[in-house]
Amino acid sequence: MKKHNFGAGPSILPREVIEKTANAILDFNGIGLSILEISHRSKDFQPVLDEAVALFKELLDIPEGYSVIFLGGGASMQFCMVPYNLLNSKAAYLNTGVWASKAQKEAKAFGEVVEVASSKAYNFNYIPKNYSIPSDVDYFHITTNNTIYGTELLKDIDSPVPLVADMSSDIFSRPVDVSKYGLIYGGAQKNLAPAGVTFVIVKNELLGKVNRHIPSMLDYQIHIENGSMFNTPPVLPIYSAMETLRWLKAQGGLQEMEKRNIAKAELLYNEIDRNKFFVGTANETDRSRMNICFVLKPEYAELEADFQKLATERGMIGIKGHRSVGGFRASTYNALTIDSVQALVDCMKEFEKLH
Ligand SMILES: *Cc1c(COP(=O)(O)O)cnc(C)c1O
Repeated sequence: MKKHNFGAGPSILPREVIEKTANAILDFNGIGLSILEISHRSKDFQPVLDEAVALFKELLDIPEGYSVIFLGGGASMQFCMVPYNLLNSKAAYLNTGVWASKAQKEAKAFGEVVEVASSKAYNFNYIPKNYSIPSDVDYFHITTNNTIYGTELLKDIDSPVPLVADMSSDIFSRPVDVSKYGLIYGGAQKNLAPAGVTFVIVKNELLGKVNRHIPSMLDYQIHIENGSMFNTPPVLPIYSAMETLRWLKAQGGLQEMEKRNIAKAELLYNEIDRNKFFVGTANETDRSRMNICFVLKPEYAELEADFQKLATERGMIGIKGHRSVGGFRASTYNALTIDSVQALVDCMKEFEKLH
């Protein structure tokens, strides 16, 4: 039976990317060696990194004056690396979930942190709107997609200070106006590549302005100067990322991705809203196109295990909600096809008929 992979991360990748990665592990570029056993500085690997950077710039239409680097440490490492490099005295954070809170917590070690708004009192089921961004902060940090709660900022906001965004779970899901951001980062394992590589897109002019010593490994400028090869980069995930970016380009780029992601999200949200057993957990205006969270209505709560069982029988994988929200979460990343969403919708309809 076909498996429909709705896992939140590490998550579904295009089959083609997995096959090409498997081939590169067996015999990379026909050189008779595995990509796992050659130097990251070899003439065979360097073009992989170069192409990944070039495709980042092309697909996201990144303006001049920005660098793209690949690092280890996950998005979580960026929670401290961002303030290390950018926070002189004060930074502002929008608290929209667990990841946003963690980013904010790390920044406190480097200076004053202003929480401009928080949706914590409502278990992060919406994204605060009417806040003001102080003009005397070094940057303003947002999380564009809140993977756990299923809320998403679908428009690039304007900020009077450099805007820093954690885009771990919605990068490449829609076109982004990079010029509105000072820095964008994310772990690759949601929409781009296997776990192990983190991407950072940074406006060069923001760097070199803090008055502290930055350890080399945490200094963006060092990684930029060394073309992501200050130390050994995560070679294999970078290879897979390059293949995903090629795939994205061949599919028609980010406009096409956005179109598909809208269609998938509408299909599932429409069923959640129609079906008498289910209800969405995120406020309608802030619903994520990447992580769709829903629960059984309180009067049917005791049927949760029944739905989980039926969904598993029908091939659904990874739809159990995060423990802090409960219920179900269907992640509909780029590589997930609308057929899989239709299969979940059919399963919800079947469940309705059975009960
Ligand atoms: C998964 C996730 C993270 C954590 O990423 P790691 O690479 O595991 O550190 C951070 N932010 C968001 C929005 C995420 O979805």
